[in-house]
Amino acid sequence: MNISDIVKSDLCTGCGVCTSESTGRLEMQWDENGFLLPVLKSGKWSDTYDAVKVCPFNPDPQLEVSDEDKLGSQFLAEAQKFDEKLGRYENTYIGYSIDYRTDSSSGGIATYVFSDLLKRKIVDHLFIVREFDGSYEYGLYSGEYDIKQTSKTRYIPVTLEHCFTVIDNLEGTVAISGVACFLKAIRLKQFYHPHYKHKIPFLVGIICGGWKSRFFSDFLAQGAGVSGKYHSQEYRIKDPNSLSSDYSFGAFDRDENFKTMKMSKVGDMWGTGLFKSNACDFCSDVTTELADISLGDAWLPEYRSDGMGNSIVITRSRLAESIIQQGILNQALVIDSVTEDAIIRSQKPSFLHRQDAINFRIRIRKLKRMMVPRIRDRVLTKISLPYLTVQIQRMRVRKNSIKHWRRYPFFGKFKEKMSIDLKILALFTRVYHKLRS
Ligand SMILES: Cc1cc2nc3c(=O)[nH]c(=O)nc-3n(C[C@H](O)[C@H](O)[C@H](O)COP(=O)(O)OP(=O)(O)OC[C@H]3O[C@@H](n4cnc5c(N)ncnc54)[C@H](O)[C@@H]3O)c2cc1C
Repeated sequence: MNISDIVKSDLCTGCGVCTSESTGRLEMQWDENGFLLPVLKSGKWSDTYDAVKVCPFNPDPQLEVSDEDKLGSQFLAEAQKFDEKLGRYENTYIGYSIDYRTDSSSGGIATYVFSDLLKRKIVDHLFIVREFDGSYEYGLYSGEYDIKQTSKTRYIPVTLEHCFTVIDNLEGTVAISGVACFLKAIRLKQFYHPHYKHKIPFLVGIICGGWKSRFFSDFLAQGAGVSGKYHSQEYRIKDPNSLSSDYSFGAFDRDENFKTMKMSKVGDMWGTGLFKSNACDFCSDVTTELADISLGDAWLPEYRSDGMGNSIVITRSRLAESIIQQGILNQALVIDSVTEDAIIRSQKPSFLHRQDAINFRIRIRKLKRMMVPRIRDRVLTKISLPYLTVQIQRMRVRKNSIKHWRRYPFFGKFKEKMSIDLKILALFTRVYHKLRS
């Protein structure tokens, strides 16, 4: 078993941590489907067998770190509470940061936490996603310019390929942001190389509903009216006079015109699975269970009317809890303590898809004699026949969206090609909802 087996089985999201375990033999490159994937730079795949131990989709991991629950007990042992859906945690909140909300994706809590970590010298640097020459990549930030420029989440593939090389050559400690599978890879790295526990004392979890191909950005840019190259795209332009979900995408064209499009124009891009990595269908971690603090959108009726956005917050370590408590005391955060149920409701579709239906997708893969990553038994359950049809169609939509964009990278033509698949998915979903209610 090595990383090429994971890639060939379409089970790689491109976190890139494996490259740091390959003694320079692996590097990340764009593939034909718009994802960043590890490729062999030199030597043989068999020389890189060690790299698979840090892969979040490893089908045969070491027992002590074989899933999110086991890793949680290694890294978040002090957390006071446990919930089957949320994992280990201290407390749950919803709210926003007064200073950082305007420039952020949701409530600006990620930027607030990072800023606080630097101000209080809990860490010396951040390894986060920021702009590089009009696109986005992971990079180091040590307070050189206004931290607001690092705000906002970016839905284009990025990779931790250079993370450990950068960190190894740095004085001081680093906090990192990441989606669930990226953080799992970092925790695995810390397990096998314990000195990184000290070097990386804090992880900010970005709750993720699916890792998108670069095609997603290309599609949105064309939808906004950019023909040809685009840059400095914005995925979450808020409308203070509308609902929090009514945000826009925008991008600069070659003539430096900023073109925008309400996301409602393209319909549901998340629940359908359009442009999503196949590996995401085999991740059961909805709320970044291995982070010190997990952040997402408060997709709840009681917060939806606030177009500026609110964040859901799950603190999982004492340090994270103290940052939030301090923020409340200093009146830097406007934040309510909420029940676990509120957090679970805000991510309900993701729990249904990622946890309840994962067993069905695993069974399909096993029937096809395909490799299956290690998934914790406790999330494996049965789903109803109507939801099963939704699952089959979602898998089809995901696969076809990537296939069609590769062949027809044109907004109108692509929509035409996807139309029947999306109509069938909408029909199956309606039937499922009707029978469920
Ligand atoms: C691919 C993806 C899917 C998502 N799906 C969901 C979902 O289904 N449900 C939900 O509630 N929320 C989801 N989010 C998270 C949501 O969009 C917000 O990012 C989150 O609520 C944090 O908002 P904030 O205002 O606190 O962050 P901000 O204050 O705006 O800061 C964002 C921070 O994240 C860093 N960052 C930007 N892009 C990335 C990236 N790709 N990977 C890692 N770090 C990054 C930035 O450097 C910055 O520090 C998703 C995010 C991504 C990237």
